[in-house]
Amino acid sequence: MKTNIVIVGGGASCISFMDALLKKNLKEKLNQLSLTILEKSKEIGPGNAYFSDLKSNLLNTKAGYITVFKDHPGDFYQWLECNEYKWKPDYPELEITRDTYAPRALFGMYMKDAFSVVCADARRSGIQVKVLRDEAIKVEQVEKDQVNVVTQSGTVINAGKVVLACGTQQQSAMLPPYSHDIIHSPYPTRELQRQVAAEDSVAIIGARLSAIDATIGLIEGGHTGPITIYSRSGYFPFVRGTQGRYKNAYLTPDYIAEHCPELDFYKLGDLYQLERERYQAQTEHDYFEELPLPNPPISNLEEFLTKELALAKQDRGWQAILYDTNSGIDQIWDRLRTEDQDRFMKQFVSSAMSLRVSIPAENAEKMLGYLRSGQLKFVAGPTSVKVEDGQLTVHCNGTSAPTGKVIYATGSPKSLNQIDSPLLRSLIESGTSVENRFGGLDVCKYDYGLFCKDGKMNTSIFAIGELTSGRFLFTSALDIIVRHAHACADSVEKFMTTERDYSLSLAKS
Ligand SMILES: Cc1cc2nc3c(=O)[nH]c(=O)nc-3n(C[C@H](O)[C@H](O)[C@H](O)COP(=O)(O)OP(=O)(O)OC[C@H]3O[C@@H](n4cnc5c(N)ncnc54)[C@H](O)[C@@H]3O)c2cc1C
Repeated sequence: MKTNIVIVGGGASCISFMDALLKKNLKEKLNQLSLTILEKSKEIGPGNAYFSDLKSNLLNTKAGYITVFKDHPGDFYQWLECNEYKWKPDYPELEITRDTYAPRALFGMYMKDAFSVVCADARRSGIQVKVLRDEAIKVEQVEKDQVNVVTQSGTVINAGKVVLACGTQQQSAMLPPYSHDIIHSPYPTRELQRQVAAEDSVAIIGARLSAIDATIGLIEGGHTGPITIYSRSGYFPFVRGTQGRYKNAYLTPDYIAEHCPELDFYKLGDLYQLERERYQAQTEHDYFEELPLPNPPISNLEEFLTKELALAKQDRGWQAILYDTNSGIDQIWDRLRTEDQDRFMKQFVSSAMSLRVSIPAENAEKMLGYLRSGQLKFVAGPTSVKVEDGQLTVHCNGTSAPTGKVIYATGSPKSLNQIDSPLLRSLIESGTSVENRFGGLDVCKYDYGLFCKDGKMNTSIFAIGELTSGRFLFTSALDIIVRHAHACADSVEKFMTTERDYSLSLAKS
């Protein structure tokens, strides 16, 4: 009998998982496999990050470095060169080099092709592939190795293994206050022009990349009303410098495993210093910009961006060092003392993310222009949104500001009860899964199987991507997504070959 693997979600995690599975030495097994991919949206391949949208939504990785195929570095750039006839009609003005921060929707065109490539490869290997446009609303264990996936349309799909690759989740629209003037996600940004009148005053809650996409999308689309960005922590992304890639030698899981029996903030600081000296020796630069830590919350965004844009004209070695931690950030996180993990989540996570997830200078310049024109304001502090006598109001720092529209640009909520997903609700309610203490689904750090209520790891249901960010700290970069998808394919293969029951104590040790 064929083993059916159901993948819920047809984005980067799905493509990369399929690619990894096809590379396995499963020759005699491949023709006993079938794959069913469930995708709820119209486009398959781009996922939530790269679907068709405004050209002003840029990748935060240079075109020459980004790929969905682990063994093909630079695949996107090669695709651009070979497929100009496909994308040039939509982007006639775009001149791309390896250093361009390309529109994410253009990357989405590549991802659609990448999805077709993995499907064709799978079929050539004798795997039956079914792609359904439907939403998974329930995953229930029927027997030890048999799971039923129930979809919105009522279809029940029987599976031996299920991989949840559902990506970023939207904040629930069911949370109060209720108002038609609250927009729960800035995406697609092209829709904002329809949802928001040009002269409306707009409050954007959140100050990360999606807030920037929303602001630029609105203003370039003809918005003339005032826009205020509210940043709870007072942070805003730093600006990317001109540096290339660097391979860490000290801030790596292997070095840490060998040399640091106990990892705390101080030890991390020492390792960073060693890395910094090595970087400087390798690049032969006289100057190395200090890591801007501690970075106090921003009181004047105009000043911050002016300074950042000047610094971004040069090599920013600290960004190259932080970026390379993508290759093992989850393992480094896992070795950090529990007290320091808790402290990091309570005190430093926003500051760290503003350093780690930086923006291209092109978008920083636009934001600076809006601030200087007076159309954009930046307010730091926790907010609450209320509807008072029919008027939408944002309260922050003891003052209240009436606003025409509120746009939540806060990303995937960490807490599962703030997410509007029947699938996640049913997984938690049935006890098939539990929430990680830092949010998202709790999965085994080695095998990606869901931990269920009784503490055991499920060997039939796995999760990768943003749903696992509580376990792995940071998953919002394509190279991290690809790494986890490959490791998850190893695990699925392992449990297809030898079924093993892992107790919580074993797997968590
Ligand atoms: C707006 C945005 C911009 C980003 N930009 C970058 C970038 O520039 N560079 C970078 O390296 N990383 C970026 N990232 C990080 C990004 O998360 C990864 O690069 C990657 O695309 C995530 O892939 P994924 O497949 O895990 O999730 P997603 O891309 O979110 O795909 C998940 C898919 O699952 C589908 N789905 C969800 N639930 C169900 C269900 N119940 N049933 C059926 N289908 C379902 C969704 O419709 C979606 O298509 C960005 C992320 C976001 C959200």
